[in-house]
Amino acid sequence: MDRRTFLITSAALAAPDAGQVMTVRGPVAPSALGVMLAHEHLFSNFGEEPEEPGRYDERALLAAVVPYAKSVRELGCSTIVDGTAAWFGRNPRLLRTISEQTGLNILTNAGYYGAAEDRYVPRHAREETADQLAARWVKEWREGIGGTGIRPGFLKIGVDGGALSEIDRKLVTAAARTHRQSGLAIAAHTGENEAAALAQLAILKAEGVRGEAWIWIHANKARDLEALNEAAERGAWISLDGLDAETLGRHLELARRMKAWGRLKQVLLSHDGNSFRAGGKRPMRGYTALFTDFLPLLRQGGFTQEEVRWMTVENPARAYAVGGRPG
Ligand SMILES: [Zn+2]
Repeated sequence: MDRRTFLITSAALAAPDAGQVMTVRGPVAPSALGVMLAHEHLFSNFGEEPEEPGRYDERALLAAVVPYAKSVRELGCSTIVDGTAAWFGRNPRLLRTISEQTGLNILTNAGYYGAAEDRYVPRHAREETADQLAARWVKEWREGIGGTGIRPGFLKIGVDGGALSEIDRKLVTAAARTHRQSGLAIAAHTGENEAAALAQLAILKAEGVRGEAWIWIHANKARDLEALNEAAERGAWISLDGLDAETLGRHLELARRMKAWGRLKQVLLSHDGNSFRAGGKRPMRGYTALFTDFLPLLRQGGFTQEEVRWMTVENPARAYAVGGRPG
């Protein structure tokens, strides 16, 4: 092969967006993301009937969300990872509008949410194979979501309590296979189901994907804290994303544990807030406690500026950067 042919072939094989973070307005360099909230919801229809894409009273939604999101930006946030999945309110076009009106970088997702007793898993996912589901998600990655041209920045899945069900296993397998074709990180609603966290990591391993591709969403709810260390040992990102006025002490304790285990470089912080819940029918859950309460608490608690920077800037940028983690 001559040099020119070789260069063309390598260019075709290299993922054009590798190393970038894919936002609803296109790829952004990880170093440009600033302080990042790793798991929030700008809006959702969670609790309502499944529907894709999510439909809203858009005027009411933007009137509520845009000023609030601007206030979060003024507190120092530059980037928000939006965890609202397909079938419970995902709407990339509205996220792009909010991004344009606030200057925030926002990530949306592909994938299906297998928690909430599979209420938001579409019927076709029960009949299709993991490969067929992966093909749907890879198509969104390559072509954009539902004709909008807006590409997902990660994969969002979820599992129920207890042992992984057949559909849970299929979603995890499909996410692993999509990761191999796209380099998108896998954010998995797992919460207090420690056994399910380790079971998902085992499926990833069998599929040739390292733990570094997987984010334990709601890890702050775990009761067996040793499992957090074990998952981190296997490479997983630990998302402590339940910050609010009541959970500050719990999050501080968890951050201390992770620090003692030498795992702070794998910790992500967020609120699981929602500025337009159930289509605006329920009171919002805020996402400012990190800035107003938790960062001061971390500093008083002896966390260095550098450690705070890992958890709020560097870790989430690495966790959500596009790139294959084969292994
Ligand atoms: Zn969430």
